Amino acid sequence: MPAGSAEGRAEQIATLNTIVHKMTVSPTFASLLEQLEEAARQGSLDDWQAASVRESQRSYLLASRLPESFVRELTRTASLAQHSWRRARAESDFSIFAEALTRLVDLKRQEASLYGYEEDIYDPLIDLYEPGMRVSTLRPVFERLKAGTERLLTRIANAGVVPEHAFLHEHYDGDRQLEFSKRIVEAIGFDFSTGRVDLSAHPFCTSFGLHDVRLTTRVFPNDLRSCLFGLIHEAGHGMYEQGFDVRYDRTPLAGGASMGIHESQSLFWENMIGRSEPFWSWAYPQLQRTFPEQLAGRSAEDFYRAINVMQPSFIRVEADELTYNLHIILRFEIEHALINGDMAVAQIPEEWNDRMERYLGIRPANDAEGCLQDVHWSFGGFGYFPSYTLGKLYAAMLYNQAQKDLPNLIGDIQAGRFEELLGWLRSKVHQWGRSRKAHELIHDVCGRELTEVDFLEHLERKIDSVYRTSI
Ligand code: ZN
Repeated sequence: MPAGSAEGRAEQIATLNTIVHKMTVSPTFASLLEQLEEAARQGSLDDWQAASVRESQRSYLLASRLPESFVRELTRTASLAQHSWRRARAESDFSIFAEALTRLVDLKRQEASLYGYEEDIYDPLIDLYEPGMRVSTLRPVFERLKAGTERLLTRIANAGVVPEHAFLHEHYDGDRQLEFSKRIVEAIGFDFSTGRVDLSAHPFCTSFGLHDVRLTTRVFPNDLRSCLFGLIHEAGHGMYEQGFDVRYDRTPLAGGASMGIHESQSLFWENMIGRSEPFWSWAYPQLQRTFPEQLAGRSAEDFYRAINVMQPSFIRVEADELTYNLHIILRFEIEHALINGDMAVAQIPEEWNDRMERYLGIRPANDAEGCLQDVHWSFGGFGYFPSYTLGKLYAAMLYNQAQKDLPNLIGDIQAGRFEELLGWLRSKVHQWGRSRKAHELIHDVCGRELTEVDFLEHLERKIDSVYRTSI
């Protein structure tokens, strides 16, 4: 879109959102919902149909709390804010974005108050992405995760070695990278008969129903990781979408239980499987055949260690499994303070940089590599960031449970057999779509509440093998 069209598009999106809002809160829709709720109470609906009514009721209740004029104002402001964020990031100057962000924070505070809350004004905003989650549940988990991460970073520093990884940045032909990555996601179970893969600037997964799931990735000829792990990640999202109960197609249940659960499915495949030793003992010989010159003399173990190097860096999307969560916790703390009115927008750059220094030991040189790097705040996505870390914690919990339930799991991965594992995810997670809440789902599958313990133990084992800290 031409840069000069932002104002026009802001108005168009505001009009569309207002129309959708009007339809959602219309008396006709409300009375249909009421009839369906009555039917559910009398037991004349199947479980999944009742769940579908419950989901519709939830969207209805949320929408009905917001006056039409507010929806118009919020949509318009968010659309314009995205435009000023883009300019601010290009010029690495936070002050260009500050005014729009201030208006947006103010509107999100109003939105949270309109939804209502019992404990914390940030709660209704997380609830939009992670239904049922509260600051009072999240904060202690994040505090323990932060402490555990600091401990592991010290362990790495004490190891005094960084595994050789420069060879990942030799020249790797882009077409061959993409071909190899597609073969891998097909092998783990992404169904190409109802899905496809294309290229884009930022990888994503989108779907237009259970039988049309589309993934994108990007290719950097001087970085072997980006295309492959980007695609495995998106395929994890895609297999979730392909795995919903077919009856849910075109209903409110054809979606993830929460953003955190959706992210757990991408991270399960990307990190728990795709960055593991058993996986590369199977996949590495194929990779080596694809790039014989660049990988000559490198063993599967060399490769495994190289792709798991962990060190502090400025950009969230490029961060490793361990330090990534500190990027999220920093954002959570800042946006929680903004929404609570404990921090002014003007303080963001300094608060950001101070926290980067405290948690990761590095200080951004400018706003572009600091507080302007992410798009989320510019569209009003406050409450979204925790989903990424929740996804990591859920993925580690699910993996531990899979190992208990599937005694052959490691051997299967080493042999490139993923049917049983995918079947396990299908029956435990995928098929349920949005018919069950995230915490119910996790509790039913793992028999426990959300915890950071599995994730930290997984990383401790990984650090021992990558940095050889136990030897
Ligand atoms: Zn994702």
